[in-house]
Amino acid sequence: MKVKAFKNEPITDFSKPANLKAQQDALKDVRKRIGKTYEIIIGGKKIKTEKTFSSINPSNTSEVIANFYKGNKELVEKAMDTASKKFETWQYVPAEERANYLFKASEIAKRRRFEINAWMILEGGKNYVEADADTAEAIDFLEFYAREILRYSEKQPLIPVKGEKNELVYIPLGVGVVIPPWNFPFAILTGMSSAAIVSGNCIVLKPSSDTPMMGKLFYEIMEEAGVPAGVINFLPGSGSEVGDTLVGHPKTRFISFTGSMEVGIHINELAAKVQPGQIWLKRVVAEMGGKDCIIVDSETDVNNAAIGVVQSAFGYQGQKCSACSRAIVDKAIYNEFVKKVKEEVEKIQVGLAEDNFRMGPVCNAKAEKSILEYIEVGKKEGRLIIGGGKAEGNGYYIQPTVFADVAPTARLAQEEIFGPVLTIIKSKNFDDALKIGNNTKFGLTGAVYTNNREKLEKAKKTLLIGNLYLNRKCTGALVGGHPFGGFNMSGTDSKAGGRDYLLLFTQAKLMSEKI
Ligand code: NAP
Ligand code: MG
Repeated sequence: MKVKAFKNEPITDFSKPANLKAQQDALKDVRKRIGKTYEIIIGGKKIKTEKTFSSINPSNTSEVIANFYKGNKELVEKAMDTASKKFETWQYVPAEERANYLFKASEIAKRRRFEINAWMILEGGKNYVEADADTAEAIDFLEFYAREILRYSEKQPLIPVKGEKNELVYIPLGVGVVIPPWNFPFAILTGMSSAAIVSGNCIVLKPSSDTPMMGKLFYEIMEEAGVPAGVINFLPGSGSEVGDTLVGHPKTRFISFTGSMEVGIHINELAAKVQPGQIWLKRVVAEMGGKDCIIVDSETDVNNAAIGVVQSAFGYQGQKCSACSRAIVDKAIYNEFVKKVKEEVEKIQVGLAEDNFRMGPVCNAKAEKSILEYIEVGKKEGRLIIGGGKAEGNGYYIQPTVFADVAPTARLAQEEIFGPVLTIIKSKNFDDALKIGNNTKFGLTGAVYTNNREKLEKAKKTLLIGNLYLNRKCTGALVGGHPFGGFNMSGTDSKAGGRDYLLLFTQAKLMSEKI
């Protein structure tokens, strides 16, 4: 099978009036369809239950985007049975055929791009470009993993053994449970799910309860692409009920999770317990939180570094696992840096995602409450530079907030806040900055701004960070170019969007024939 070389999907340029209008029209169109109720889908059959839950627009909390029937324990059984049955045949579908479903899905997602963006803007509170980048990343995952399974299905190199014909193939694992977060609601869900099925596994997909519509759109797209019923089973429901039951199920072969450290630890523990009838150890891929830092050295352009920090800290309201939440700044340029950050943050306007404000709302009421509590902690632990409370509007709006003079061991410098709060820490020198940078249980992303080559090399060697960027911001990883995943409590370093990723969804089988 001949395919073109992989290329990242370009981001839409919304400064072009035609693109802006296309997005606004898609929003109008999607608006006509909000508030509907959607079924659970198991083995291609739509199922209603007694309870429903609502996906709320975080920009305007009086608005229901969609309702979903809520999964329960009985449906977990049904979904696991259906997926296990389907796996008996799906595992033998040739890799080329499976790759083709992803190529088709990518075409459909490209065609429906503005519509997907529109649902995401309404359901997730992203501005146009953030939503568009999310959809583009999902397209990239489809294109990338389709090519990857073709690569893994080629003849694998082995050292020849005399008198034998030896062969190694990558086979799928079985039934996987896919549990994505809400913050890259289309990209991560699509990446985790498509990698699992293209490798020959069947899945039960439990979308985040904050962004179930994104899961529904993914299901529709895969269905239109021709993926057979039962390969993907769509089971919305609560993390603690449906999620736990899925993770604990004896037929679950692997769990692909992205979300918070707390839930990741819990899933890892639950999955480790072998259940009656279970004949394997479950594989857990858990990508978790971060407390990402940007080190700003004395030998750098302070303005440029401040702009990079502000973009990394406040893009999508600071709700990226890769967001900069700690700026570690050399004392020689500290005051100048703090002043410049303040000037940059003053420019940020907060408002409706639908009206394409640079900053929209945070994702839900629980997040809003927790972030506001951290802001109160910050008022005791540091010096408030700007922001410091709720912003106006009928949604979960929070002012972009900056604290300076925070100790490296303070809560604000150690705990993941996951909102628009930046902590600035003063360092004595570059070595001190590296030490502060590594003084965390997380290790996801980070960046270093310096013109000094030796310092860059030292940072490359010593910082324990999964995705380390030099003289650029620490968000915006590209599929293929920047495989993504962190160390320590940031997760299992799965490197999504990289050449190692599909190994996590497969197992190698060696066959040796005497000739
Ligand atoms: P979360 O609260 O941990 O939820 C993630 C998913 O887990 C949701 O689908 C949730 O379902 C489910 N869940 C909750 N409790 C569960 C349980 N007991 N058993 C099984 N599943 C359960 O995380 P989030 O708020 O969605 O996402 C934000 C977090 O994700 C941040 O910490 C961020 O750093 C991290 N993240 C990491 C990466 C990475 O690559 N390392 C990427 C993106 C995000 P419900 O919605 O129903 O509760
Ligand atoms: Mg919501």
